[in-house]
Amino acid sequence: MSLRPSKRHAMMGINRTDLATSEGKVLGENHQTDHWKLRGGPAGLHLFNRTTGLNVLLDDVPPPASLYSRAPRQVSVAITNRCDLACAHCYAPKSLDELQFDTIVRWLTELDEHGTLGVGFGGGEPTLYPEFALLCQCLAHKTRLSVSFTTHGHQIDDALAESLRGSVNFIRVSMDGVGATYESIRHRSFAELLSRLKQVQSISRFGINVVINGQTLPDLNDVAIVAADIGACELLLLPQVPVRGVPAISSDDMQSLRRWVDSYRGPLKLCINESSAEGFPTCDPLVQEPGLRAYAHIDARGVLKPSSYSDTGLKLSDGSVLQALDQLAHDLEENNI
Ligand code: SF4
Repeated sequence: MSLRPSKRHAMMGINRTDLATSEGKVLGENHQTDHWKLRGGPAGLHLFNRTTGLNVLLDDVPPPASLYSRAPRQVSVAITNRCDLACAHCYAPKSLDELQFDTIVRWLTELDEHGTLGVGFGGGEPTLYPEFALLCQCLAHKTRLSVSFTTHGHQIDDALAESLRGSVNFIRVSMDGVGATYESIRHRSFAELLSRLKQVQSISRFGINVVINGQTLPDLNDVAIVAADIGACELLLLPQVPVRGVPAISSDDMQSLRRWVDSYRGPLKLCINESSAEGFPTCDPLVQEPGLRAYAHIDARGVLKPSSYSDTGLKLSDGSVLQALDQLAHDLEENNI
């Protein structure tokens, strides 16, 4: 079992079990050459297949710095702040901010051309974005980005599933506990979530996100069992961060979570958000790509940030996102952030 830090969704699929070096044996079915994208960086040449999620790192000979990709490996975009749920632990701003369709496509086309491997849409609830399916279709067709999104799942019906099939590479669905625990947090039926997960499974590979606190921790075994039974391939652990009067996970609960991780022997790949990863058995084969080389976030007001939690950012104008990234990197360095 290995646990990898997540939130930097470009790390999708990379851990010691599925990252192959040039010494390794990797290719199998579904690895046609036109599904691969190449990215240069200090760790080597990184090949990524958005269809299968497989990553290959050619690290025998480091590429020259002139071949390093300029864009972050992974970008997350909060396309809307709207949501029809009201979870107490939510850290999304309670506003109606929403990004323009053409602007999102322009930013992501530029990032794709400069080496970004994947985009993760979030919010708010991204499936409430008026042209969400069209946005995914457009990016799948126009770019070589892996398209993923994080959702509560309750908007995914037959019609939406049909329009997303073939345009989305990975979906993350929130499941904080099972049964009554889930229902007390999300105020939605758990049975309905299970039926939505069947729709999700018909669209693409998917994982389960679970906020970890004193209320959800006792359900973690059941969450992992349900997730595996329904076809998820990954479990993303999100220890509660303090937000609007909701306290952070207690140190006792963090200890219990570490013990749970150490003892987990199930089939799911375990991940944890990077800010909570200390003390967990994580691995990062691309550790030479820190900060904005690895990940950037754009919020629903169009502010470019080093992470979705960060207070530091730069409002994107009509110009180049790459230039804004350079400026943000400079600002962060100057302010020692
Ligand atoms: S579903 Fe997600 S975005 Fe909506 S309130 Fe809950 S945590 Fe926030």
